[in-house]
Amino acid sequence: MRAVTVAPGTADSLELIEDYPEPAPEEGSILVESLAIGVCGTDHEIIAGEYGEAPPGERRLVLGHESLGRVLEDPTGTLQPGDLVAGIVRHPDPVPCPNCAAGEWDMCRNGRYTEHGIKALPGFARDRWRVQPPYAVPLDRALGQVGMLLEPTSIVAKAWDHIERIGQRSVWQPKTVLVTGAGPIGLLAALLAAQRGFSVHVLDLATSGPKPELVHALGATYHSVPVHELDFAPDVVLECTGAPTVVLEVMCKAAPNGIVCLAGVSSGGRTIDFDAGALNRSLVLENNVVFGSVNANRRHWELASDALRRADPLWLSALISRRVPVSSYADAYTSGPDDIKVVLEFAI
Ligand code: BGC
Repeated sequence: MRAVTVAPGTADSLELIEDYPEPAPEEGSILVESLAIGVCGTDHEIIAGEYGEAPPGERRLVLGHESLGRVLEDPTGTLQPGDLVAGIVRHPDPVPCPNCAAGEWDMCRNGRYTEHGIKALPGFARDRWRVQPPYAVPLDRALGQVGMLLEPTSIVAKAWDHIERIGQRSVWQPKTVLVTGAGPIGLLAALLAAQRGFSVHVLDLATSGPKPELVHALGATYHSVPVHELDFAPDVVLECTGAPTVVLEVMCKAAPNGIVCLAGVSSGGRTIDFDAGALNRSLVLENNVVFGSVNANRRHWELASDALRRADPLWLSALISRRVPVSSYADAYTSGPDDIKVVLEFAI
């Protein structure tokens, strides 16, 4: 069967292998036919040789962590052939640490977790894959064209879960949410903010292309100015760019008692002149919280599935800029100027 692979650590080693072995039974009892895979920034980093790890003893890693598949067989009888399913990305570390032991692998303490298509586990960008029942998330049939958005939605569902838990430290009545970055993560974060009834603002560099319209369609306001020029102080910030200047500016911009969730990964290696004392002063005197958020556990995947079910299907479809057949796989991993989410299609 076909599999899209890379040699982690080697730049530009992307290759479609036509005779990749069928998934081993040890991978899980549920056999799934791959329908589509979403491509994200992490895939680009892995292809650039900057991130990613092959399974032990192997040189190549199958890519793909944003999955959508159709069940072929489930001997446990939980899922029926034809059911739509996504595979959870992260698996707990083998120790396990206290968090992984409690099913909170997204909070793994020792870094020995594994991740499909990213770290030591083959990804879902292959014709067939197997999954163990606790890592298979069923999807509503209505999400047949956009179900690969479940994984990025799980990331923002976790971010929102943690924002709301942190908010419980005091009387908290947030009204205004700022999302920085109108890529897939930013737009999905804004969707979940709009579903919560907040006044939502999204900031991005783009002044043309589909982003402004997608933001307006959520009833949110689109801004294309530097953060310090915004004329309001957000109660909640979801930082989804990872751009160092934006990260620092949003930390200074939050309202008193504000919560800033950092969800974008910076590449590092760039230094900026910055008054850390002034930042400390404003965080302390305003009781602000800044925290990082990565990955998602099963509870978040289920919250995400619920959020997608309640979203406008046309809005979700509009996040998908291009659908590329596996035969042209390299095109799916080449970014276009107006791309939001690119999808690699196996069998839809
Ligand atoms: C994935 C997460 C993963 C993170 C770090 C992201 O692209 O969505 O599931 O934990 O990369 O590897």
